[in-house]
Amino acid sequence: MTSIYIHIPFCKSLCRYCDFTKFAIHHQNVDAYLDSLEKEIRGACKGALPRTIYIGGGTPTAMNAEQLKRLMNIVDENFDLSKLEEFTIEANPGDLTPEKCALLKNVTRVSLGVQTFDQDILIKIGRLHSQKDVGENIKNLKAVGIDNITIDLMYGLPTQTIKTIQKDLEIFDKLEINHVSVYSLILEEGTYLFNHKQDLPDEDEEYEQGKFIERELEKRGLKRYEISNFARINYESKHNLVYWNNEEYYGFGCGASGYINKTRYENTTDLQQYLQGITKINEHKLTPQEIEEERIFLGLRKVEGVNCPDQDTTDLEKKGLIIRENGRIRLSERGFELANEVMSEFIQGED
Ligand code: SF4
Repeated sequence: MTSIYIHIPFCKSLCRYCDFTKFAIHHQNVDAYLDSLEKEIRGACKGALPRTIYIGGGTPTAMNAEQLKRLMNIVDENFDLSKLEEFTIEANPGDLTPEKCALLKNVTRVSLGVQTFDQDILIKIGRLHSQKDVGENIKNLKAVGIDNITIDLMYGLPTQTIKTIQKDLEIFDKLEINHVSVYSLILEEGTYLFNHKQDLPDEDEEYEQGKFIERELEKRGLKRYEISNFARINYESKHNLVYWNNEEYYGFGCGASGYINKTRYENTTDLQQYLQGITKINEHKLTPQEIEEERIFLGLRKVEGVNCPDQDTTDLEKKGLIIRENGRIRLSERGFELANEVMSEFIQGED
């Protein structure tokens, strides 16, 4: 069994902080993109037996109903779905009309890019949806039997405060959501917000906001199980655990990456190239040592940590960043705060 990631790189409008591979959907030949995608999937793994599928982007639901229907059919016709345990699609609030929800054949889980419910902040970060859209979308999804809904929440956004986050959480309480991914705003070079750094919380405020969300989600029964992810029991993302458990998966689409036969690969991020049938542009077969480094590096993202009987971690333990128990290591609370630095210790050649 395997896992499948499919990238749909189109969005209705471009958020001011985003540096993913994505293109404004207007004037794009989405049908031609779906042709290339289908060809890529057929060539690589027609008939594969996925345990998890994740369609991300971009915004898959920015496509029109016809295109969305075709995408669902591509999945249905090219994979054996008899062992499918989880099928997630990303959506932007506002896109999920009753018509589109009814098309989400085989989908079991929807990831809604909420970020915040605060209308002023949404405008500042270039997102088009409203709080009302989220409630309506969830209602529409439930009407077609999809009640496994995860949302993204962000902190460190322009003019955001503990007070606005408190309000976000009050709205969250009314929505029966079982999984939340929490991210701080990262100012990526070249994005609008990188060039217009205004009204941003300072480092201390941002830290407090992150801690506040963490505490409040835990109070509400959502347990942190990975650096950025919180879930009620049995609602952990099976697909994302594939990444953190260093298991293999196919990646399809412009800008996708995959890990098959111990080889990591990246597809082109150039849409025109992809439409011409050029897919993989980088491949790297991992050495046994790299596989082991990545297993630890990725496994440490999980709260439960990772099996690691052999590696010497005394220094990190002494600094209170790593906890070792029964041959496993995991990040301490402080370790989570400094996760990138701690994890880089396990990659050869990094300082
Ligand atoms: S909707 Fe998502 S992928 Fe598209 S621009 Fe916004 S953050 Fe980026």
